[in-house]
Amino acid sequence: MSATRFTVESDAHTDVVDITERVREAIPEDAEGTCTVFVRHTTAGITVNEAEPRLLGDLGDAVGELIPDNGWAHDELDGNADSHVRAMIVGASETIPVRDGDLDMGTWQSVLFVDCDGPRERAVDVVITD
Ligand code: ZN
Repeated sequence: MSATRFTVESDAHTDVVDITERVREAIPEDAEGTCTVFVRHTTAGITVNEAEPRLLGDLGDAVGELIPDNGWAHDELDGNADSHVRAMIVGASETIPVRDGDLDMGTWQSVLFVDCDGPRERAVDVVITD
């Protein structure tokens, strides 16, 4: 098993960042198995999709439009219930096959970090198992 952590900077309240190359750099040479990409946060997530720049904006907009900004019970505490619910929909991790030391993804697939409560610095964990 190998485990690596790196940081990602988001630039907006809801921001989708292509982290594919950062994840690739964390995979040992000749590794075979599975790669789990995980965020240790309750208002950010990980997904696999296409990293076309306009689509990254669309994905962030869609997550924002699905979930209303206000009217949640948790807002009485710290005002960011919308961010928690958006992150829940995205999910905290993705598991991706690893073959010959590389992510075994489709041509148009990328690993995307989704911040739902940015801008801020976040941690991403990459765990490779046999
Ligand atoms: Zn909160």
